[in-house]
Amino acid sequence: MPHSATTDHSAPVLEELIAALGEKIITEPELLSSNAHDRSYHRWESPLSLVQATSTDDVSTALRICHKHQTPVVPRGSGTGLEGGANTSTGSICLDLSRMTKITTIAADDLYATAEAGVMKSQLNAALKNHGLHFAAGPGVDASVGGMAATSASGTTAVHYGTLKENTLALTVVLADGTVITTGSTTKKSSSGYDLTHLFVGSEGTLGVITEVTLRLHPLPKAAKVGVWSLPSLEAAVQLVLASLRASLPLARVELLDEITIEALQKYNGYTAAVTETLMIEFVGNAPEVQTNYAQFAELAAAYDAAEYAATTDPAESARIWQARHDALPAAVALVPGSRPLATDVCVPVSQLPRCILDTKADLEATGLLAPIVGHVGDGNFHLAILLPPDDPAAWTKATQLSQRLVDRALACGGTCTGEHGVGIGKVASMAQEHASALAVMRAIKDSLDPSGIMNPGKVLAAPVS
Ligand SMILES: Cc1cc2nc3c(=O)[nH]c(=O)nc-3n(C[C@H](O)[C@H](O)[C@H](O)COP(=O)(O)OP(=O)(O)OC[C@H]3O[C@@H](n4cnc5c(N)ncnc54)[C@H](O)[C@@H]3O)c2cc1C
Repeated sequence: MPHSATTDHSAPVLEELIAALGEKIITEPELLSSNAHDRSYHRWESPLSLVQATSTDDVSTALRICHKHQTPVVPRGSGTGLEGGANTSTGSICLDLSRMTKITTIAADDLYATAEAGVMKSQLNAALKNHGLHFAAGPGVDASVGGMAATSASGTTAVHYGTLKENTLALTVVLADGTVITTGSTTKKSSSGYDLTHLFVGSEGTLGVITEVTLRLHPLPKAAKVGVWSLPSLEAAVQLVLASLRASLPLARVELLDEITIEALQKYNGYTAAVTETLMIEFVGNAPEVQTNYAQFAELAAAYDAAEYAATTDPAESARIWQARHDALPAAVALVPGSRPLATDVCVPVSQLPRCILDTKADLEATGLLAPIVGHVGDGNFHLAILLPPDDPAAWTKATQLSQRLVDRALACGGTCTGEHGVGIGKVASMAQEHASALAVMRAIKDSLDPSGIMNPGKVLAAPVS
């Protein structure tokens, strides 16, 4: 019978880890607490120690020892998660992958690269630039390839390039008992056996530790055109996106920013745009097709009373626009000095997006909470950052209830409780609601791969009662 890990053997585990991995085992309290949490608001406690792994062998050694002592292990990439996935608890080990930074292969002709788990997206893209290639998926914030694969991350580019699911070809994974496996292949397709790669993508460190990721690459586009469009209402903005998708316009990005977000960006980084509901869009490809697609979008936009605020083909100006979009979360927090955000995301079928966003806006107004909304609207994915005073339990309770109603609303229209942030701690309670009897299959997989329950316990699935 599987059981949850305990901390009874914490001292012996530490002794054994130090004997095997020496100075890679860190116990300084400041380093323990600074690595004990991600960027979320969820609870955390300092771990027993930090393991700074530099190779798959180190990870395997650490897991073998932790497995023997039934010590919980929490993998950590770059700690940018928003649902508490990398948060540690007393007696656990934080397994830090950030020192595994080798890019082992760039296969330009076969359009893939293999990188160790701690390689950051920016590092990978800097190395790919000379090859005329890029890794296009993942969040706007810089994050590790291991963390991105572990959360099945995505972002502004998913509407065109897909998520980490579509962009991960193969993995090296260390299982709970220290066994090392490789999954997938570098071929374009394979019908060979169970798809273990995509079992681990999105498993948030609860099934094993990813030490190497093989990622799909794309040629850098020859040309791009970015536009910022002002819309009279949220409804019009989302309907314009739906019309564009129905017309098969190949949008490379299409981002919704509500008027509160635009106001926040103006104050935060001096970004100028009309304070109204806004769409930021991009087309990529060769120059003529980019111009044609953009012109078709402009034609459609006229029917929704959209006004072009800015348009550019200049890479520096485009980068400035996208940086403004990527600053949305820190800008939101700066809007209410001293506030902390309860950040959450859901994803619904695109056709349900207008109703889901408008009902959420009405809910926000009714509760009196302030939450800028941004959305990767081409995918039906949107985010709230509910801005709260850190020491006001009543406000946090109200926000948590609103967040739960958001999940209920998304599920009621055929959506999912998280489009990209992952389950972590924050969405565990929604898993039974979303997955019904399939949750028992997830539990069986977890119990089979991690019978002692040491892998990131309490994340994704509730810890079993021992
Ligand atoms: C400002 C801001 C904007 C963001 N925007 C987006 C966005 O647009 N889209 C999006 O998807 N996310 C977004 N995020 C969330 C976050 O960046 C992603 O979830 C990212 O993929 C986390 O990567 P990380 O390396 O920081 O992982 P961590 O936060 O370190 O870990 C995340 C989870 O993965 C597990 N994990 C980490 N590394 C491994 C590994 N090697 N093996 C097994 N498990 C592992 C951890 O245990 C944890 O459960 C944003 C965050 C911030 C702060």
